[in-house]
Amino acid sequence: MDVAKVKEWLALFTTKINEEKAYLSELDSAIGDGDHGMNMARGTTEMMVALKEKNPETVVEVFKLAGMTLVSKVGGASGPLYGSAFISMAKAAMSSEELVTILNAGLAGIQKRGKAEVGEKTMVDMWAGVIGALENDQLTADVLVDISEQTKDKIATKGRASYLGERSIGHLDPGTVSSRYLFETMLEAGV
Ligand code: ADP
Ligand code: MG
Ligand code: MG
Repeated sequence: MDVAKVKEWLALFTTKINEEKAYLSELDSAIGDGDHGMNMARGTTEMMVALKEKNPETVVEVFKLAGMTLVSKVGGASGPLYGSAFISMAKAAMSSEELVTILNAGLAGIQKRGKAEVGEKTMVDMWAGVIGALENDQLTADVLVDISEQTKDKIATKGRASYLGERSIGHLDPGTVSSRYLFETMLEAGV
């Protein structure tokens, strides 16, 4: 895995999150507390500041710094979840160069922290869908949209959206959409 591409990926992700900040918060207003765009914009912006300041030179160090910044700078549930993902990806990158292996470790980190299973209308659905598609060599931007659309009909049973029960049906999950941007920008950067 190429460190320059990973840095490019995180920069593109930060830009995308900042562009879609209002939309992500609007999605979170429907089934949560309306702060997902703010949380992610703050976290990713701080992540870019840290990467510029410390300029880590290995994939392991880039993921580690990204994860630690997200855990410490984001108040909402999404900070520790994305942070755990990146910290677990850093550990996996010590012994593997393979994207699917590294993303699998990221998903395990999210699940260890948040205890959500696939189908509970969280970002776990996006991560698991991406890993499945990568294993079949079928990951495209269209597949990413399909995966997030599929969460619309699910009932949220984890996180704030679970307070709504059946009323969460018909809404996109904000964390699934921000994770869609993560993987769209991963494809764009050619990681
Ligand atoms: P908060 O809910 O604390 O305001 P955010 O709005 O930033 O945090 O993030 C909400 C997103 O976090 C949800 O859309 C969902 O995808 C994700 N999420 C919440 N709880 C969990 C969990 N236990 N496991 C995985 N993802 C979760
Ligand atoms: Mg929220
Ligand atoms: Mg919140």
